[in-house]
Amino acid sequence: MKSALKYLKPYGGSAIWGMLFKFAETVLELFLPLTMAYMVESASKGAEFSQVLRLSGVMLVIIALCIVLSVSGQFFAAKASTFFGRDLRTALFSKINSLSFKETDSFGTPSLVNRLTNDTSQIQSAVFMVIRIGLRAPFVAIGALVMAFALDSFVALVFLAVIPFVAIAITIILKRTVPIYGSVQKKLDDITAVTRENVSGARVIRAYSRQEHENVRTAVAAESYKKESLRVNRIAALLNPISSLIIQLGIVGILIVGGYRAQADMLEPAILTAFITYILQILLAVNMVATVIVILIRAVASAKRIEEVLNAKGVASDGYAVTGGDGLDRSAPAAEFKDVYFGYSCANVLKDVSFAVNRGEKLGIIGGTGSGKTTLINLIPAFYGARSGEVRVFGRDVKDIDPRYLRSLVTAVSQKAVLISGTVRENVAFGRQISDEEATRALYAAQAEFVFESQEGLDKHIERDGSNISGGQKQRISIARALAGNPEILILDDSSSALDYATDAALYAALRTEYPELTVITVSQRVYAVRRADTILVMHNGKIEAAGAHSELYAASPLYEEICRSQGVDL
Ligand code: ADP
Repeated sequence: MKSALKYLKPYGGSAIWGMLFKFAETVLELFLPLTMAYMVESASKGAEFSQVLRLSGVMLVIIALCIVLSVSGQFFAAKASTFFGRDLRTALFSKINSLSFKETDSFGTPSLVNRLTNDTSQIQSAVFMVIRIGLRAPFVAIGALVMAFALDSFVALVFLAVIPFVAIAITIILKRTVPIYGSVQKKLDDITAVTRENVSGARVIRAYSRQEHENVRTAVAAESYKKESLRVNRIAALLNPISSLIIQLGIVGILIVGGYRAQADMLEPAILTAFITYILQILLAVNMVATVIVILIRAVASAKRIEEVLNAKGVASDGYAVTGGDGLDRSAPAAEFKDVYFGYSCANVLKDVSFAVNRGEKLGIIGGTGSGKTTLINLIPAFYGARSGEVRVFGRDVKDIDPRYLRSLVTAVSQKAVLISGTVRENVAFGRQISDEEATRALYAAQAEFVFESQEGLDKHIERDGSNISGGQKQRISIARALAGNPEILILDDSSSALDYATDAALYAALRTEYPELTVITVSQRVYAVRRADTILVMHNGKIEAAGAHSELYAASPLYEEICRSQGVDL
């Protein structure tokens, strides 16, 4: 809870004010039963009506003050908790952005979404409740007890006897519910995961008429969440009735003991009414505490989940040997792998991979699905770190290069083009300072001249996810986005798959003439996409089976020859 609560510090003042106002309200409230008892006693002893009226006036003033204090307390509590929630979410969001790919994989996107939304809300409401009730409830209980002792210590002992029972009930319920709340949040992650898949894959689901199957999957996740929530709520819901029962029994005890003492003339009957009011205040306080405890239990489970992310190592933001161009040797290979092994879990996905590609060279990587092509290229911008061996960019181990700088050097374009709603200009610039000339040059090189066929040109509007342009057009805009940043290494991961052969060839030719110094690594399953590369790596089961130019490989590698034949490509 500590690392999460650190974000409450700047709003400590508001939190304290909130508590103090609620505390003052509580103190005033404690005088109400006393005034009432006094009023009843004076009336029964035949006091003047004007005195009763005066006492009523005092009570009204107390009530009015209580209202003012209560509203002020709510205001400060809301202020502190809302600002705290905002800061916690912002900090969590920026931490998520700095997580390594490995860490993101291990948390899972749905869980990160829930931690950022649901879990932060749980803590925010807990802070709100604690400010409002945290000081007030125990004070009501203690204050009422003190008042009770002041009135009649004998009857007050019954009060005291009730407290351990309530404490035991709270402890038992706490112990049983805390672990379950953690698993409730996990079930919520499962629902988010299914929902995400359903929303993002809605078209595929409809195309294969899988709605029924998906409905069942969602229902199973929802049912499992419902069961776990019911299990925990059934236990937590016992807290209120049990504590009420104990306190009601306390009232019975007070009436019996107080009745005896009143009969023996040792206690004013009017005092007994004050006692009942005090114990009812305690009952209210205990119920409030019970509610806060349930919220706190959930918040503790949520805080643990948030802290797992906040305390994750992430990608270091400083301490790198190379933070700019000076530390790199441009005459060394642009990218080089030396005996690299890598795996996501235990098994190695890449095995003993070694190759080098020089500045300006065009490298092709071909291989079947799952052969490790994407995994290999993900090591160049250091999205993942090699298990053993070295991945070098311009002579330096990528571990030594500041990731921000490294990723400005190495840009990867994936098969799935991600476009935002906005103009072509905004999509190409993507938040960077890119001049119109640079954007235009990149768009032409990426064979996206269709943009200039319409009147608007760079101002052409793109819908969200690029739904108003074709798959091939989307890919060309995302290639232009990569080129516009002037990277030194461009990785095209199947990113020209939606282009026809002629456009693909024109793209390659434009990259050679327009960006001669740019190192291009093209990953594909199609021979056509890589055959023009200076060198082609043939991957199979995470290993480089053969390397060479198209014509050499055709003769030297049976695997490459087989791939070519299966795709109807010859020399
Ligand atoms: P390719 O790009 O050649 O199709 P990949 O590099 O994507 O192959 O995948 C190689 C292997 O690594 C596959 O067996 C795949 O299941 C596994 N893999 C890929 N990405 C991950 C990941 N994020 N977590 C775990 N395993 C992965």
